[in-house]
Amino acid sequence: MSGTTLDDYTGRYASRVHGMAQSEIRALFSVASRPEVVSLAGGNPYTAALPMDELGEMFTRLFDQKGAEALSYCPGQGSTALREVLCDVMDLSGVHASADDLVLTNGAQQGLDLLARTFLDPGDIVLAEGPTYVGALGVFQAAQADVRHLPMDDDGLVPEGLEQSLTELEREGRRAKFLYTIPTYQNPAGVTLTDERRERILAIAERHGLLIVEDDPYGMISFDGAPPAPLRARTERGIIYLGTVSKIFAAGLRLGWVLAPPAVRDKLVLAVEASILCPSGLIQEATLRFFTEMEWRQQVKVFATLYRDRRDALLSALTDYMPEGMSWTRPGGGLFVWATLPEGLDSKAMLPRALQERVAYVPGTGFYADGNGRRQMRLNFSTQSSESIREGVRRLAGVVAGDIELRDTFAGGGA
Ligand code: PMP
Repeated sequence: MSGTTLDDYTGRYASRVHGMAQSEIRALFSVASRPEVVSLAGGNPYTAALPMDELGEMFTRLFDQKGAEALSYCPGQGSTALREVLCDVMDLSGVHASADDLVLTNGAQQGLDLLARTFLDPGDIVLAEGPTYVGALGVFQAAQADVRHLPMDDDGLVPEGLEQSLTELEREGRRAKFLYTIPTYQNPAGVTLTDERRERILAIAERHGLLIVEDDPYGMISFDGAPPAPLRARTERGIIYLGTVSKIFAAGLRLGWVLAPPAVRDKLVLAVEASILCPSGLIQEATLRFFTEMEWRQQVKVFATLYRDRRDALLSALTDYMPEGMSWTRPGGGLFVWATLPEGLDSKAMLPRALQERVAYVPGTGFYADGNGRRQMRLNFSTQSSESIREGVRRLAGVVAGDIELRDTFAGGGA
C-alpha cells in the first residue's frame, strides 16, 4: 500500500463501479430547474394534483390508529394486507395474482436492481427496446451486463427484431438472460405495443425459452381508452412483472412491487432483506390507506385527464411550430413524447443552445447503452402547464431552425 493515501479512492472501487455514470437526466437537473427555463426534461408526475388536505387527514388517522406498528420493522416481503390490495389493483388490468407472489420494493427501481442482482453476472446479455428507460440502463450497467437494443417503431417492439436477435445469439452459442420491456406508453418513446405484437412476442419468447421482465408503471395513465392487456395478463409463464404506485399515487413514496414465479420470488425476498431488511412500514400503511380509504380511481382519472390535455398541448405546439423534417410519437398515455430531429442535427450538441433559449429536454443518447439516439430527444408533458409547454416548444422550434441553418451553412448548401 506504499504511496496510497486515504484520499485516493479510485484504486479501491469495485470493478462494477466503473460502469456507473451520471445519467443525462440527473446531469440536467440543476440547469433545467431554473425558474426561467421551461423544462420538458422532467419525468415527475404532477403531485400538486393530489388532495393534500385529505392526505394529511389520512396520515393523521394512520398515526392515531397504527402509529407504533407503522414505525416498526416489518416482514421483508411486505405487508400481506397491502399485497392483497395491490392484487386487486392489478386485477383491473387483467393481471391476476396471489398476494403470496408479490414482493414489495422501494419503487420499481429497486425491483429492477434486485432482479439484476438475482440474474446478472458481468457480461450477461440483456435485451431491451432501443430506446429504453434510463434507470434500467443504470442498473444493468452497474451489474456490468451487456445491453443489446432491439428495434421499435410506432407499434412498439418489432417482433422480427427480437426473433433475429435471439437467432443470432443462439448461433454464437449465447443466450440472453432476459428481455426487459415496457410495452405500454413506453418511457421514453411513448409508444405502445399492439395486441397482435404482444401475442407474437410471447410466442417467440416461449419458443426460445426467453424470460421477460415486463415493466408497467404507466398502464393506468391512459388517455384514449384502455391499452392492450399486459403480457402478464396473457400468460404467467416466464414473466416477471414490475408495478409501482409512482404514477398512480406518488413517486416520493417509493413503493413498488415485483410479481414473480415462486422460485424467483423467494430469491427476491432474500435480496430485499439483504438490501433494506424490509420496505418502510409507514409508507406501506399510507399506501394501503390510499387504496382503501380514498377515491384512488378518481385520482388516477385526475392525473390522466390533466396529462391528456398537456399531451394535446405538446402535440399541437409541435405541429404548429416545428420546422419540416422533425417527427414525433403520439402517446396514448404516460408522460413522454419522443421526437426525432431533422437529418444531420444532434440533440446533445444542441442542448446548450436550447438552455440559452430557456427550454430543456433530455437528449436521446441517454436512453441507449450504445451511443445511439443522437437525433432524438425526450419531451415530458406531465410537469408544466399547457401554456408553458406551448411556449417551450416555440422556443425549441427556434433552436431547431437555427441548427438547420447551421447544418446547411456547413454543408455548403446555405446562402
Ligand atoms: N420503470 C420505468 C419505465 C420508469 O419510467 C420508472 C420511473 N420513471 C421506473 C421504472 C421507476 O419507478 P419507481 O418510481 O417505481 O422506482
